[in-house]
This record gives sequence, C-alpha cells and structure tokens, in this order.
Amino acid sequence: MRMVFLGPPGAGKGTQAVMLSEKLNFLHLSTGDILRENVKNNTEIGRKAKSFMDKGDLVTDDIVVAMMLDKIAKDAKDKDFILDGFPRTIYQARKIDEELDKLKIPIDLVVYFETSLKIVIFRLTGRRLCKDCGANYHIVNMPPKKEGVCDKCGSELYQRKDDKEETIKNRLDVYNSQTKTLIDYYREKGILEETSGDLDAGIVYEKLSGILNDRNKIRT
Ligand code: AMP
Repeated sequence: MRMVFLGPPGAGKGTQAVMLSEKLNFLHLSTGDILRENVKNNTEIGRKAKSFMDKGDLVTDDIVVAMMLDKIAKDAKDKDFILDGFPRTIYQARKIDEELDKLKIPIDLVVYFETSLKIVIFRLTGRRLCKDCGANYHIVNMPPKKEGVCDKCGSELYQRKDDKEETIKNRLDVYNSQTKTLIDYYREKGILEETSGDLDAGIVYEKLSGILNDRNKIRT
C-alpha cells in the first residue's frame, strides 16, 4: 500500500508515519527530513533548499520532485510507503501521479489530518528535536526527563529555525495557498480519507488503523 499524509505543519503526520512504519514496516519518506539531511550534509540539493526552508517557503517543485522520485526508485519501488509532506503543490501531485503510474505503483490512499490553528501553533512552537538522533519532544506534551537533553542519546535538543512563531505564520500561509487545494484533488480521485489531527496521537493512530482496516483489511 502506498499512502500520502496530507495536512498543515504540526498536524501530526510525521508522528503517525513513524508509529505506522514501526508497526507495519512501511517506509516513511518525509520530504522535510530528507531536505534537512541534505542541508546538514551540505549537498547541492541542501544548498539550493536552505534559504527557502529557513523562510518557511516551499523549495522549488523541480528539486523536490526529482529528489523524491530518485528516493522512491532507489528505496521504495517494491515496498509499502508513506509520503509525508509530499506532494505539497498541484504540480508535484500531478507529476508524482504520472511517474508512479508509469511504474505501476500508484498512490492508493491519501489521509488528510484536519487540524485547528490553535493546536498547530501550540505543537510547532513547543516542538524540540535532538541534534543527533532526531528524536521528537514537546516542551509541554512530551518533555524530556532533563530539560534540553535527549532521553535516547543524551545529545542537545534544539528548536527548528522554522518553528519560530514568525516563520510558522508564513508556513501556514503557504499551506493555505498552495497545499490545501490537494484535498479536493485527491477527493475527486476517490482516494481521500479524513481524520482529525487535533486528537492525541494514540487516538489518531486508532482511527488511522480503522481506516486501513476498512480499506485493505490490513491488521494494525
Ligand atoms: P516539514 O518538515 O514537512 O515541515 O518541511 C520543512 C520545509 O521543507 C518546508 O517548510 C519547505 O521549505 C520544505 N519542504 C518540505 N516538503 C516540501 C515539498 N513537498 N515541497 C517543497 N518544499 C518542501
């Protein structure tokens, strides 16, 4: 099964994708994570993407589409996968559909995590990440045992530059003007399912499992 997780930043797409991939062995392909890895390693893609990411703007379609197609061809062709944070524009959606159709591995299901503005801002402003292992925390909902230190590997936690309030506003504007339209695009294709992203991660996971069970009789 090949899925797209759609929703605003802070909807919990990444959290659900991690939970599902651990349980069901899905390959989790997060465009944001792959881009951040490229920035960290100072690759050509990373150098081109950095200024867009710092401002909360979208990286250009051609860079992101080529990067994701390459990743799918290398790692995911024969696997179940979740695309998290991709596609984010109509151009990306059409292009990926076209290419996946050619490979006979079309997207089967798109899950839209409908999430309120209040929750999104609370989650993003409180999010902290581990510099080394990438583990995710929240200063209120999921604090580390020792402030600023990763429970898993003991490294320092940091706040993503684009999780600062001024950049979050731009990311949400970008989502509303360029990404939200994908809800109708996939609804018209008949592959869209919706769930609330506002609820606790465990409850969202149960709802997601229900959707997968209904769709595919997958045991979650
Ligand atoms: P995320 O981790 O999904 O919030 O993504 C972080 C940043 O990476 C975004 O604000 C964009 O700058 C960039 N990015 C991630 N996914 C895409 C995409 N599908 N298209 C363009 N830019 C993206």
